[in-house]
Parts: sequence; structure tokens; C-alpha cells
Amino acid sequence: MVSPISLIVLLLSVSLADSASVQESFVQCLNLNSDKTFPFYSSIYTASNPSFTSILDSSAQNLRLLVPSVPKPEFIFTPSRDSHVQAAVICSKKLGIHIRVRSGGHDYEGISYVSEIESPFIVVDLVKLRGIDVDVKSNTAWVQAGATTGEVYYRIYEKSSVHGFPAGLCTSLGIGGHITGGAYGAMMRKYGLGVDNVLDAKIVDANGRILDREAMGEDLFWAIRGGGGGSFGILLWWKIKLVSVPPTVTVFTVTKTLEQGATKILHKWQEVAPYIDENLFIRVIIQPSSDARNKTQRTIATSYNALFLGGARTLLQVMKTSFPELGLTIKDCLETSWIKSVLYIAGFPSDTPPEVLLKGKSTFKNFFKAKSDFVREPIPETGLEGLWQRLLVEDSPLMIWNPYGGRMSQFSESETPFPHRNGTLYKIQYLSLWQEGDKNAAKHIDWIRKLYNYMGPYVSSLPREAYVNYRDLDLGINTKNSTSYIQASAWGYRYYKNNFDRLVKIKTKVDPENVFRHEQSIPPLPL
Ligand SMILES: Cc1cc2nc3c(=O)[nH]c(=O)nc-3n(C[C@H](O)[C@H](O)[C@H](O)COP(=O)(O)OP(=O)(O)OC[C@H]3O[C@@H](n4cnc5c(N)ncnc54)[C@H](O)[C@@H]3O)c2cc1C
Repeated sequence: MVSPISLIVLLLSVSLADSASVQESFVQCLNLNSDKTFPFYSSIYTASNPSFTSILDSSAQNLRLLVPSVPKPEFIFTPSRDSHVQAAVICSKKLGIHIRVRSGGHDYEGISYVSEIESPFIVVDLVKLRGIDVDVKSNTAWVQAGATTGEVYYRIYEKSSVHGFPAGLCTSLGIGGHITGGAYGAMMRKYGLGVDNVLDAKIVDANGRILDREAMGEDLFWAIRGGGGGSFGILLWWKIKLVSVPPTVTVFTVTKTLEQGATKILHKWQEVAPYIDENLFIRVIIQPSSDARNKTQRTIATSYNALFLGGARTLLQVMKTSFPELGLTIKDCLETSWIKSVLYIAGFPSDTPPEVLLKGKSTFKNFFKAKSDFVREPIPETGLEGLWQRLLVEDSPLMIWNPYGGRMSQFSESETPFPHRNGTLYKIQYLSLWQEGDKNAAKHIDWIRKLYNYMGPYVSSLPREAYVNYRDLDLGINTKNSTSYIQASAWGYRYYKNNFDRLVKIKTKVDPENVFRHEQSIPPLPL
């Protein structure tokens, strides 16, 4: 009779042996399939490696997906050459080892480093692939997938003070994953999204080939610009188009609480922000705060956080004409350079030098659950009041409303897979944040789901649209070995609207064996 302890020891040693053999087979295969002049062995981290946890945790943003109960990869591979990534795809396919790819680790549900549906799995982390080559003469740059948005902005600024790139407000996003889902930022009303400013790309396909735009063809090039990460291949490089920024821009943050008329002002913002001068982006950050007159009382604070591509005097004229209700004054305005506006909007302290962007550090690491909505009709004041009641009962809720319109409305819904274009007034992001680990996670998740239900009547419907870069597994997931079109339609139409069907067709053509798959990847049709 085998004792329970020896059974555990036996199972443990079997699983360690399994894990060792997965790693050994993978290494042997990599050896056979990659360039010997660039060794990769020190780039493989198994759970027994002392650096495993720090590497796994390094770029992961959502601490909810790092708790011990969440599955961990067999090992992490950090390629230092494009050819290593090719070899990783060839070997994972050959050996049947499920692969996840990570660039900046900001996925809201952690699917770049966690697989809840398949085991074992490995992570290919592109952290070492962060080359950036800016060519101001041609207004372009080639950017490697592991570079962060902040590094891209810095390298552009290093060469020119009148060029920029319209992508994320957060400066630690991985350019690899970020652009695959759309990539919006403070210049979206002027220039559109990151995907609207991509000229070329290099991708490792399901057969391990490196394809540029010409080689991959226009269908696949369309799919990777908004069809979400982890479905069509591994992006190695994006070629981006730089945009003009004025030498002086203006930023401001003005906060209004309920006692200062926040509800009426926000109601007005909905009617103004999507139509105002396209050089002006005014987002609203909404959260409970303590009431200035009675510190024990909570109120709602709405912070209007803005970038204007121009000087303060022009901005004041625009605001006086279109949005006098906010009461913006010259004292609220800060004239600065575009690169410093990036730091301001990302929330760095005012004296932070731009070089901080090269550290790729995140200003946001939390336990959180998030959701998104798109709004097509202004929410009435009664709807806003109901929203305040719900925010006031949660510990640490946060909402961010981003205005659309301007250049965003000039793209058709099918120009890229990102369909939330003309007619969208703004996007809502809902978050519940917490610090106490697993303990009350269920309570916070329950709260945000109820809030989402409450908002149903006020937001887009049929489909209720959602932003793929704010991944939300509540919308549905693929299950192992039974990824189906019907199942995936549950989230596919919300993220991509009618573009979902074209994405499925392209997936079926380029990756019929579904090598690149995850909880919400695009499914191929059965052959
Ligand atoms: C704090 C914070 C702020 C944010 N701010 C913004 C913002 O201002 N604007 C905005 O649009 N979004 C924003 N986002 C969302 C962000 O765009 C997405 O989370 C995006 O997917 C992050 O890309 P990543 O490479 O950092 O993430 P990862 O977690 O590395 O990847 C995300 C997804 O892409 C896949 N992927 C990663 N690399 C590749 C690759 N090289 N090739 C193919 N697939 C790949 C992954 O498998 C995963 O499915 C924010 C997120 C956070 C956490």
C-alpha cells in the first residue's frame, strides 16, 4: 500500500520529470532550428531557476493573475533574436507545446502569461527584443515588439521635437500587444489610433516564416491591425508613421465634485467632447474622494484631464466657445512640450525627466478587474446619479471616459478590425482595484459585474461593444479543443462587430491548425 506522502512525492517527481523533458525536448528542437552563432540557452527559465518568479512577474500588470492558485508556465523563453522566435514557433508546433506570447504584459486578463484552458504551456517573452529605429526624414520608425510605448515616444523625441506617435497614454505598454488591439491615446481625435498609423510589419506565422506586409498580403496585414493579439502570429516589428506635433502643447486637469455641479458638467461634456476641436482631447477620470467640507463623507470627483495640440490662449478660446461650463482658466493650463505632456498624462511627477521613459516602468500594478463600453447617446442625469450611488459603495472603483469623434469618425468600421468609429461618443473603462490579494476578489468582481448590468440601457447594444485591448473574459472564452465560431461570436462581435467574420476567414487561411490560440483568440473554421 502506497502512503499518501509517497504518492505526493511520486506525483511531484513525475511532474518535475515531465517538465524537465518538455524543456529538454524544446531546447533540442531550438538547437536544431536556430542560428548557432546566437546561443539561447541562458534565455530559458524553468520554475527551479531563481529568476523564474521575478521574470514572470516583471511586466505583469494585473496582480490578480500572479497569485499562487493561477497556473504558471512550464518555462519562460526570452529570445534575443528574431530567429529565436521563429524557432520557438516551429518547436512548439512540432512538440505540441502550447505557447503564449508576451510583449509588455499589460493584458487585463493576463493571457500573455497565464493559460487557464491548456496545460502545459510556455511563455515566449519578447522583453529583449526592443530595438527602435527612427527615421525623421521619411517620418517613419521600425519598432520591435518588446519596446514600450514610452521608449518609442522617447526615441522619437530624441530625434525631433515636432514629431510624435498617437498610441497609448500609459508609457509601459508593449508595442507588440498594444497595437494589435487598436492603441488609442491623447492624439486619437487628431490622428486616429496606433493601427491607423502603421505602414508595415514583420510577423512570424504559424509555419515559422517571417513575413513582411508584401509577403503576408493585405488580408493578414488588415487582421493584425486591430484583430487582437495572439491569434495570427507573433509580431516582431511594426513600421509606424510619425505624426506632427506642435513645439508647444497645453495640458490641464480640472476636478469637479458633486458639490461643484459634477453631474451637470459631465452631462454637458458628453455633448461637447466628441465634437470639439480635434486638437483637443479631454478625458474624464471618475472616482470617489473625500468631501472637502466633511472629510468623513465620500463624494464623486470627476477630473477633466486634457491635451491640446496648441498654446493655452487658443485653448481658452476653444473652451470659452464650446465648454464654458468647466470654467477653465489660464491658471489651470500648463504649456509644455509634447514629450513632457506624455509624462503629465501618464501621471509622472512634474519634475520627472523624459529619460524615465527608457526604464519601461509601470505606474500601475494592481489587483484589478476591468470592463469597457462604448456610448452612442448621452447618458441622462438620472442615469449618472444612479452610477454615483454604485461607485460610492465600492472600496476603490475607477472609471475613465475617453472622447471619440474627430479623425476617429473618418475611418469606416471595416477599414481595420477596430470597428468603434463614427457615431461613438466616447468609451467607458470600468475598474475595481484592490490590494488585499485573493481575499475579497470575488466581492469586487461581483460589484463590477453588477455595475456593468446597471449600465446596459445607457450604452451601445446589438452588439454591446467592448474594446479588445481591455480584455474581459466575462464575455466568454474558448475551451480546450472545442474552439468554435458560435462560442467565439459571443465576444467576437462585441470586439470587432461585423469584422469578426472576416477575421475568422483569415484565421482559417493562415493558421488552420490554430497554433496561436488562447481564451479569446479568433477561431479557425473546421477544415
Ligand atoms: C495600466 C494600463 C494602461 C493602459 N493604457 C492604454 C491606453 O492608453 N491605450 C490603449 O489603447 N490601451 C491601453 N491599455 C491596454 C493595452 O493596450 C493592452 O493591454 C495591450 O494588449 C497591452 O499590450 P502588451 O504587449 O503590453 O501586453 P501583453 O500582455 O504582452 O499582450 C497582450 C495580448 O497581445 C498578445 N501579444 C503580445 N505580444 C504579441 C506579439 N508580439 N505578437 C502577437 N501577439 C502578441 C498577447 O498574447 C496578449 O494576447 C492599458 C493597459 C494597462 C494595464
